[in-house]
Amino acid sequence: MQLYCNLFGHKFEVSKKVTYHVSEYKCCHCKKELTTNSNGNLTPLTPKYKEINSILSRVHAKRQERLRREELVTTYKLSS
Ligand SMILES: [Zn+2]
Repeated sequence: MQLYCNLFGHKFEVSKKVTYHVSEYKCCHCKKELTTNSNGNLTPLTPKYKEINSILSRVHAKRQERLRREELVTTYKLSS
């Protein structure tokens, strides 16, 4: 599988969407993992980046939840 990648290049697919701008990618042949760093470039998914991404993902989820709640409140105000 590694040989395939050496010959034809990796074939990365999104394995996890962390935020709108950050995703994790995995090569479907050799399982090499990449992620988007803070500069928007791709970088190998090291344990350090995994940790950063899990924090980012938590913050992102929390923000989404708050946005949804605010939306509900707005809808409620409009309809009452
Ligand atoms: Zn590969």
